[in-house]
Amino acid sequence: MTAQPETVEHAVIEEALDRLFAEHDPRGDVVRFLSARFDAGLAWVWFPKGLGGLGLSRGLQGMVETRMQEADAPNPALYNALGVGMGAHVLLAHGTEEQQQRWLRPMFNTEEIWCQMFSEPGAGSDVAALACKAVRDGDEWVINGQKVWTTLAHVSKWGMLVVRSDPDVPKHQGMSYFVIDMESEGVEVRPLRQITGEAEFNEVYFTDARVSHSNLIGDVGDGWRVALTTLMNERVSIGGNVPPRGEGPIGSAVDVWKERGGNEADRDRLMTLWIDAETARLTNARARDNRRSGTPGPEGSTAKLAYAEINKKIYEFAVELMGAEGMLYGSYEMTRPDMFRDIDDPRKGFLRSRGNSIEGGTSEIMKSILGERVLGLPGEPRTDKDLPWSEVPRS
Ligand SMILES: Cc1cc2nc3c(=O)[nH]c(=O)nc-3n(C[C@H](O)[C@H](O)[C@H](O)COP(=O)(O)OP(=O)(O)OC[C@H]3O[C@@H](n4cnc5c(N)ncnc54)[C@H](O)[C@@H]3O)c2cc1C
Repeated sequence: MTAQPETVEHAVIEEALDRLFAEHDPRGDVVRFLSARFDAGLAWVWFPKGLGGLGLSRGLQGMVETRMQEADAPNPALYNALGVGMGAHVLLAHGTEEQQQRWLRPMFNTEEIWCQMFSEPGAGSDVAALACKAVRDGDEWVINGQKVWTTLAHVSKWGMLVVRSDPDVPKHQGMSYFVIDMESEGVEVRPLRQITGEAEFNEVYFTDARVSHSNLIGDVGDGWRVALTTLMNERVSIGGNVPPRGEGPIGSAVDVWKERGGNEADRDRLMTLWIDAETARLTNARARDNRRSGTPGPEGSTAKLAYAEINKKIYEFAVELMGAEGMLYGSYEMTRPDMFRDIDDPRKGFLRSRGNSIEGGTSEIMKSILGERVLGLPGEPRTDKDLPWSEVPRS
């Protein structure tokens, strides 16, 4: 009997995983293990061979992630969240082969950290309003302007940068997308402190910074299309995680319950939250396994919205259970995280989860996207859509 294609694909992945674990210690050196994982085609199984993949279906990635969790292997998405979660997918969809060869491996093995520079003081939910300017000068572009809320810019080697390359056409048409070396002259990174006391993100100032034309992703003026690929993957990367059952924020709330207990009403609330968290987790797992290839669709926005709102409710519940102690958050001394780490204190989780419904697009924007694109509701009025960007009134 001929094997079913999916069975063959499963067998190829199982074999590659067995070989990887036989030859490399998942608890050893992080860069060495992740380099070997990339070379084995197990970084992203749907990427082409030689570029971290095996040319298989995207839905099979879950098999790899489960085995990695079981082996306690390093999670590159914690070290290089913006590179692995978004940059890689942008390069696959829009990068040249040379760009893919240059950037994917050191991104995955965490030797080169990436950040995302979209938001500006005057452009957040409406990213296409951005003003940071790029002017061509021979084989280079000269960048001037400011970005804000740039997560992990202080440890990044490369930044995904969207700029205004033509102010005289409507806003969505006049943007271009570059990958810029964060160590270049004219790039200044300043810490921005969050409610947790940490400065996970930054302001970034560009003063006559130069980027080579060969670092352009897509064509000149193609920035919006490339940015959308980034944003769709960002939502999956923020909201679409599939942790083991009962782990993550809900695990932390259950721990507080076990330690302190509560009344019947608290118990009901905990059960409702547990069911909501588990439903979101299973929905994400199904979306992940059904994904064949390419850029994720609206399921990324659903996942992101659900994750943000559930996380906030879970941590609110956990600090309430802690009573007065829930208000005693450790130190507000400024620290500069160099990666994402699991949050072990529910009080920190409570503070950090406030940002979950802002980062990667606010919950209001997620609802608008779902209303318009999935439910087919009438769109918001967009009066500046056809005006040249330079003629749009700005404060
Ligand atoms: C922890 C964290 C990390 C981040 N990391 C990065 C990063 O690495 N790179 C990056 O580029 N950005 C990053 N951001 C920025 C983030 O993407 C923006 O903050 C977000 O898109 C919202 O933009 P804004 O802050 O300018 O708010 P605004 O767009 O000014 O929104 C203010 C309020 O108005 C509401 N609103 C705005 N427009 C509408 C509308 N059309 N309909 C209904 N309501 C609306 C919003 O929901 C919000 O409540 C990060 C933010 C946070 C909190």
